[in-house]
Amino acid sequence: MNQPADVAPVVSLANHAFFFDVDGTLAAIQSRPDEVFIPSSVITCLRKLSAASDNALALVSGRPLSELDALAAPLKLPLAGVHGAERRDAAGSLHRVSLPEEVTTPLAQRLRQALAAMPGTLLETKGMAFALHFRNAPEYAGAIQALAEEMVTQFPQLVLQPGKCVVEIKPEGVNKGAALRQFMQEAPFAGRIPVFVGDDLTDEAGFEVVTALGGYAIKVGDGKTQATHRLANVDAVYAWLEQLTLQLHQDTTLSVRS
Ligand SMILES: [Mg+2]
Repeated sequence: MNQPADVAPVVSLANHAFFFDVDGTLAAIQSRPDEVFIPSSVITCLRKLSAASDNALALVSGRPLSELDALAAPLKLPLAGVHGAERRDAAGSLHRVSLPEEVTTPLAQRLRQALAAMPGTLLETKGMAFALHFRNAPEYAGAIQALAEEMVTQFPQLVLQPGKCVVEIKPEGVNKGAALRQFMQEAPFAGRIPVFVGDDLTDEAGFEVVTALGGYAIKVGDGKTQATHRLANVDAVYAWLEQLTLQLHQDTTLSVRS
């Protein structure tokens, strides 16, 4: 595997489509998921980039759509939530993968009971997926992993999605790569070159797809990756977005002059 380039790629707002993970990419990680926010200056950049790229800018996250809308407010962007299990396309239509209640009800009950006995861990229920957080209780990492493995053995409709201080249980076939492929078949993304920025293991499926489509995959932070490019941290992402916005301003100035 080649090492990713330690710079952002050169992109054009006219030709590229932009996909961003949120936590650890557009927003610094906090000790609790509900403390995370996207700075208003970054929201402003996203608004400008979205407008300049004919709205070919989407968020692709493990969070539910409702939380993504709240984080990106007042923007109403195309979104893939819960790793693509729920998606709102650029036309505003919703696409949702669901699981039968015979699965979600006993699963939720079992997880609630098990995590109640592990102080400091946090169960996040997302309808068709569950996130088992242990950021504030790293001593339970092994127990959480074992519990999640037991659950996906019991329910073959489910798969594991490991992340940073979290293990998620989600429907089979759902991943960020599949969500990116769906967006890329639809206006205004189709025909553009995809750029996807993400920081975690869940983003690797997306990196694989954008690379296969001839685009750029940008990994935020350290760690082994299939990405083509790397940015050091969230601040480096902000600096790149700022730079793209300036590029936009120059492009506008040029077109006004000509
Ligand atoms: Mg992330």
